[in-house]
Amino acid sequence: MTPQEPAEPPPRAEPPPRGEPPPPSAPPGAWHGGPVTARARCVLAPNPGPMTLDGTNTWVLREPGADAVVVIDPGPLDEAHLRRVLAEVEASGARVAQTLLTHGHPDHADGAARFGELTGAPTRALGRGHDDLSDGDEVRVGGLELRVVATPGHTADSLSFALPADHALLTGDTVLGRGTTVVAHPDGELAAYLSSLERIRQLTGDGEVATILPGHGPVVPDAAAMVAFYQLHRRERLEQVRSALAAGAAGVEAVVESVYADVPREVWPAARLSVAAQLDYLRLSAPGA
Ligand SMILES: [Zn+2]
Repeated sequence: MTPQEPAEPPPRAEPPPRGEPPPPSAPPGAWHGGPVTARARCVLAPNPGPMTLDGTNTWVLREPGADAVVVIDPGPLDEAHLRRVLAEVEASGARVAQTLLTHGHPDHADGAARFGELTGAPTRALGRGHDDLSDGDEVRVGGLELRVVATPGHTADSLSFALPADHALLTGDTVLGRGTTVVAHPDGELAAYLSSLERIRQLTGDGEVATILPGHGPVVPDAAAMVAFYQLHRRERLEQVRSALAAGAAGVEAVVESVYADVPREVWPAARLSVAAQLDYLRLSAPGA
C-alpha cells in the first residue's frame, strides 16, 4: 500500500497581476460626482474625453454648517457648468470665498476668470500671474482647513490640497480616479513626479490621507493602493522604455509604438509626452550625465 498522497494545499488567493490597478470605485460612465466626504462635493463638468475621463471634477469644500466654501478647479470655460457650481453653493446657503487651482491646464483652469466674475472670489494657484500659493500654506475658510502640498511632475505648477478633517487629498491630475496620468514633458518632469508620488505615499502611510479626490474620474477610496500602483506602473514603464531602447528603438515615436501598444491610439499624443519625459529622465540619470 502506497503512502497516501499529501492533501492538495488549500487554494490560495491569487495575487493581483503585476501592475494591475486597484479597481476604480466607478466604471466609465458611472461617475457623476455628488457628495463624497463630509466636506467635499463634486460637480462634474460636461467635458468627458480620452484625456479627461468622465469630465473635470470641480470640488466644492465646505465645513458643515459654514456659510463660505472653497471651490477647487472651476473647470473649462463652460458658462452652464460654472453657473451650476454657483447655484449649488447658493442653494446650500453659502458663498464662494476662494477658488483654488490644482494646475493651469485648460480643462481645470480656463473657467477660473469667468468664475471669479460670477462669484467675486479670488483665484489662487501656483504661478501664472497668481503666485500666492506654495507648499505648506494653510487655507482657512469658514472653519474649513486645507494644506497645500506641492506635487510637481504632471506639470511644474501641480498642487494637491490636503483636507485633514476628512483624511482626504485633492490631487488634480497627479493621481486620477481611473488609469494613470501623463507627465506632460517638457513642463512636466518625471523625477519631480516620482518624488511627488513618494510624498503622497508617505501621507497615506502615516494615516493623514485615506481617500483621494482626483481631478478626473471617481473618488479613490484606497489611496495607498492607488499610489502603490502608480509607483509600480512608473517603474514598469521605465523598464519597458529601457528595453525598447536596448532593442534599438530610437526616438519618441519608436518607443511609443513599442511601449504603448496597449493603450488606445487616441491617447498616444499624451504617451509621446510621457515618453519624452522618460527619455529625459533616463538621459539625466545615466552614469556620467
Ligand atoms: Zn492636467
